[in-house]
Amino acid sequence: MATIEEYTGGTIKKGIQRALMYFDTISSPEPDDEESRHIRQKIDAFEPLIITIEQAMEYIREAEAIALGERVCRSLHTGSVCSESVFLDGLAVEMVRAGKARSAGVDEARKSLETCSVRPLIISKVSGKHQEICPSVPSECVYWRAENKGIRCLKRKA
Ligand code: SF4
Repeated sequence: MATIEEYTGGTIKKGIQRALMYFDTISSPEPDDEESRHIRQKIDAFEPLIITIEQAMEYIREAEAIALGERVCRSLHTGSVCSESVFLDGLAVEMVRAGKARSAGVDEARKSLETCSVRPLIISKVSGKHQEICPSVPSECVYWRAENKGIRCLKRKA
């Protein structure tokens, strides 16, 4: 699974980049090779869920800490639209400490997500807990790109 340290240290981006490069090289559907299995395993560990803004707000209200920061894959995409992720709990604390996010309140987090309301919200598990809410950009997002290649990884939260 991805850890908070991978987010604060930036190595999370290397994993995303590896997966995106792989998706660029294959045609659909997903081939049954070792790299594909590796990437599927890594993606599944995030247990990504598509959530509504109301469900996002439930997570945010229950969080012990909230932070806003650039979504972790943005710098991999030249000229990508700006969008901020909401980090929660321990991930929020450590991202602020690492200078990669700023502390925020419930209202600020809501406003940030509402400015990207056309984008699907995805919550991901980091260090074993759902702690990252991202207004995903489907053309750039590792999960949506995986789905496009036949790797079913996204579920809607009930
Ligand atoms: S767009 Fe997708 S890959 Fe990029 S940070 Fe958001 S959830 Fe992660």
